[in-house]
Amino acid sequence: APSDDGGHIVMLPFMAHGHLIPFLALARRIQRRSRFTITIASTPVNVRRLRSTAMADPTLRAINFAELAFDPSAHGLPSNTENTENMPLTQMVDLCYASLSLRAPLESLVANITCREDGRPPVCIISDIFFGWAADVAKAFGTRNYTFTTCGAYGTSAYVSMWLHLPHRGMESGKFIVPAFPERCLFDKSHLVAMIREADGDDVWSRFLRPQFELTLNSSGWLCNTSEEFEPLGAAALRNLVKLPVWTIGPLLPDAIVRNDDSSGSSTSISEHRPGKPLGIAPERCVEFLDEHPPGSVVYVCFGSQNTITESNMKELAAGLEASERPFIWVMRPPLGFDMGSEMRDEWLPPGFEKRVTRVDEKKKKKKRGLLVRDWAPQLEILRHSSTGAFLSHCGWNSTLESLSQGVPIIGWPMAGEQAYNAKMMAEEMGVCVELARGAAAEVSREEVRRAIEAAVGDAEGGKGKELRERAMEAREKIRKAVTEGEGSSVKAMDEFLRNLVTP
Ligand code: UDP
Repeated sequence: APSDDGGHIVMLPFMAHGHLIPFLALARRIQRRSRFTITIASTPVNVRRLRSTAMADPTLRAINFAELAFDPSAHGLPSNTENTENMPLTQMVDLCYASLSLRAPLESLVANITCREDGRPPVCIISDIFFGWAADVAKAFGTRNYTFTTCGAYGTSAYVSMWLHLPHRGMESGKFIVPAFPERCLFDKSHLVAMIREADGDDVWSRFLRPQFELTLNSSGWLCNTSEEFEPLGAAALRNLVKLPVWTIGPLLPDAIVRNDDSSGSSTSISEHRPGKPLGIAPERCVEFLDEHPPGSVVYVCFGSQNTITESNMKELAAGLEASERPFIWVMRPPLGFDMGSEMRDEWLPPGFEKRVTRVDEKKKKKKRGLLVRDWAPQLEILRHSSTGAFLSHCGWNSTLESLSQGVPIIGWPMAGEQAYNAKMMAEEMGVCVELARGAAAEVSREEVRRAIEAAVGDAEGGKGKELRERAMEAREKIRKAVTEGEGSSVKAMDEFLRNLVTP
């Protein structure tokens, strides 16, 4: 590992589950390979959550956390609303604008650290792509800023490039090229979520995102949660777009998940994935269910920490799962328009669905075919079980990496953010994904669900199943190779990044 004189690194993640976890993993990785002191700064609620994760995990104990004063109610948000989890889009935009108020508390933190270390400022501030302003803070203190994207290279490049090249409103239906991508990577209007399809440069989202992304181009370089061999096209597109050094240091996954090894010490964090909130089911019960079914047979259905589907799609999804005759685990949330904390209602599902799929027929030796999980599942335990055959996913980047690191192909139903670009890349570049639908409001039929499941886990002659699974296993190997100690490209990229920190 590169030598250093043990300066301080300040990290600033965006306040969303899918950002906090990779930042924590980045901190762990840096700490393991250097003598830098690391402080992760966030709002009080998020810091409390991060702290509780870190306390349960010996590999995170030396990380420091700093609370940045934050008042959600001053920005029209309910008090304690400091995380995007289960948040409607209207509040999300408020949270984004509210995040600009973190600048002054961050400046105080950096000033304090500088003072404590005899006038020596932190070595750098590593900030989320939504906090472009951190580049200005770093400059004011005479230090450097690096932008860390917790998403993949392809998805990030498409997302950022589209916000930097507005407007899109009125764009005719059909295909279009996104700047920074080669011509052959045509995008389709259906890849765009409403907020970008309708952006004209002067709407609330453009006015927040565009300047932030422009400011990130003033940072000293980018870190990306991917690897070169996993996303060659994405890595090239990102370099093309930001015209700065890019270090591909990922995937930042728990050791135990990459090595399939429980003895690595950090395995407690596997099911302790959402600190402060209980799992909807004990991991052992998922494992028991999976143990009962043959290898590669179970479809796992989950839409991440923020997304849910419409009530009519919920019914069709249920009917499609039933029609597929495949075993499944489904992480269920109240449909769009309902409070995420509310109780599940029978009327959201086809009549008798739960009873039918969870029935055990002792006489016919029929096993329970479905496992319904409320709200939150131990996703990593499920994905790394050999009975899991496909993941019906919203294609969030963490879910994508977790699934492919286990060689589990994806049935894609992207809903928000850059998820549709992830699905596109997985389908076109990697061949590991069948796309079911695009957008939370897309109308999905039971027959489409059934067919997508069959395409992913079935063995029908002429079906894609076998090829998808082979490709997913190739992706798994690429991931493992990248993070292999000594020779992996991501390990080398991390060391290069750390060396770069100590060169003037
Ligand atoms: N997750 C989980 N159980 C659930 C839902 C999500 O453990 O029931 C975890 C999942 O393993 C992943 C993260 O939450 O690490 C979701 O991140 P992702 O980037 O896939 O989606 P986002 O939530 O940001 O949309």
